[in-house]
Amino acid sequence: MKRLAILTGMIFCCFIFNVVNYGQDKFGIVIHGGAGVIKDLPAELEKQYKSKLSEALEAGYKILESGGSSLDAVTKAINIMEDSPLFNAGKGAVLNDLGFAELDASIMDGHNLRAGAVAGIRHIKNPINLARLVMEKSPHVMMIGQGAEEFAIKNGFEMVDSTYFITERRLEQYIRMKKFRDSLEAVKGTVGAVALDKNGNLAAGTSTGGMMLKKFGRVGDSPIIGAGTYANNNTCAVSATGHGEFFIRLGVAKDISDLIEYKNMSLIEATDTVIYKKLAAFKADGGVIAIDKYGNYAMPFNTSGMFRGVKISNGINEVKIYK
Ligand code: ASP
Repeated sequence: MKRLAILTGMIFCCFIFNVVNYGQDKFGIVIHGGAGVIKDLPAELEKQYKSKLSEALEAGYKILESGGSSLDAVTKAINIMEDSPLFNAGKGAVLNDLGFAELDASIMDGHNLRAGAVAGIRHIKNPINLARLVMEKSPHVMMIGQGAEEFAIKNGFEMVDSTYFITERRLEQYIRMKKFRDSLEAVKGTVGAVALDKNGNLAAGTSTGGMMLKKFGRVGDSPIIGAGTYANNNTCAVSATGHGEFFIRLGVAKDISDLIEYKNMSLIEATDTVIYKKLAAFKADGGVIAIDKYGNYAMPFNTSGMFRGVKISNGINEVKIYK
């Protein structure tokens, strides 16, 4: 009888422990490759996008699976997309009105709210790595242009010629858009990643070339902590893509975190509120990816498509482009 009571007690404890522990063991990563007007992608190009998104997703997930940090997972996934000419980040970034690439990026550690950001970068192959360097090796949060690049060189970063970023596809786009219209256009392809690791730490990162034909010196939301990127272990991690000026004005990423923190909203409620209500009220285009401290994720967008992918330890694993 006594034995039975002990056994029942043990089973009960195991059950309780599992329930309490549920959520802390969950880990995962969500990525995006930009939101925008995406339609009639040729089958071959669609395949290329999906395969590159999967590669980035898998690489980030592998780091999390082996016990690595969410910061490392986010950095790795973004590096893969920055190096691909498919996306508007690193190689393949859009060109400003003068015809060259100016890159912005930011990263945030939800564990201690440390953050790093760079803007107006012209010669650093992987701007997200420089954003991380600013976070880890400087007392600052944000550095721009020449000063940021000199800081990179001092820390052993390699410089690339500004022509490295220019692809034939972007050049053709630039010439066409310059000729037919003089307004800004969000050419989809900004990249971002958010992750939750086995230690319960959240991280977010975003990297972009900004908007096609943007004014020389223009900075969008991607390197602005609280607008394009935010992470807080108490709430969630967010990376945004879309018409940056509106994301800055609305403080999109921090707003999502605040709705969870102060209004007790779920991740889905918070992201839906900001993307489908607040952003929509301004008729602004875009979307976000987000993951919360429990491993719930959201990927809302109000455009025709958003390159995106998610892989969570509970078995969810998908890469999508359209709604
Ligand atoms: N949000 C980026 C910017 O405004 C562009 C984009 O995501 O398409 O710079």
